[in-house]
Amino acid sequence: MAKNSMRLTGVRKSYGGLEVIHGIDLDVQEGAFVVFVGPSGCGKSTLLRMIAGLEEVTDGEIAIKGRDVTDLDPSDRGIAMVFQSYALYPHMSVRENLGFGLKMARTDAGEIEARVRAASAILKIDHLLDRRPGQLSGGQRQRVAIGRAIVRKPDVFLFDEPLSNLDAELRVSMRIEIARLHRELGNTMIYVTHDQTEAMTLADKIVVLRDGKIEQVGSPREVYEDPANIFVAGFIGSPR
Ligand code: ADP
Ligand code: MG
Repeated sequence: MAKNSMRLTGVRKSYGGLEVIHGIDLDVQEGAFVVFVGPSGCGKSTLLRMIAGLEEVTDGEIAIKGRDVTDLDPSDRGIAMVFQSYALYPHMSVRENLGFGLKMARTDAGEIEARVRAASAILKIDHLLDRRPGQLSGGQRQRVAIGRAIVRKPDVFLFDEPLSNLDAELRVSMRIEIARLHRELGNTMIYVTHDQTEAMTLADKIVVLRDGKIEQVGSPREVYEDPANIFVAGFIGSPR
């Protein structure tokens, strides 16, 4: 039986008395590619940020690899979050951008260099290590943003719409890259998007959200062929 990688139990979030996440229960198997999909404002980012520890959980529990991480700092959870590429440090080289988080965690310099080299080989950015973000294309910058997560060797990768500020063509090629990365690394990945095509092509398991609640969890095929309700049918079936 596949091992459990992440479990959400009764997770809720309120902002100033207004509840926006209404009790989410979810089990994620080790190595799964899980996509949270749903319309803008349904709570995808809030949920991901709670998993990452960037947002406090109002009620409920988050466990990663069987360990309750609900009240732990982001750096102690065994997760790494991939931000949109504009979150890179413009004044640092690619090498420094990749190694910065490890340096802050006081990782030994030789170990940092080894992990930076390994990550840049996987992402095919080894030849760009001395450049600054401003000297890179959009796709290259997004690879660096992913590399910053890889070097931390997380149990779980979290992506919040990493491709949404790329043009359509680049989005397709990066999507293929991310799928390849998942095959090669084998880590659990949690990926947020409002883009149905991205969800359908990347996911092992799709979690369809609406108004802070789960409408359906299933394989792309299940949610497409056997939608739980008219909302899922309309959302998954509709063009972007
Ligand atoms: P999504 O990522 O699916 O577009 P969000 O998670 O960003 O949705 O937002 C979910 C809901 O929570 C929305 O109604 C949004 O207005 C609200 N929200 C998000 N962040 C905050 C905040 N910091 N303060 C108050 N309300 C927030
Ligand atoms: Mg969002």
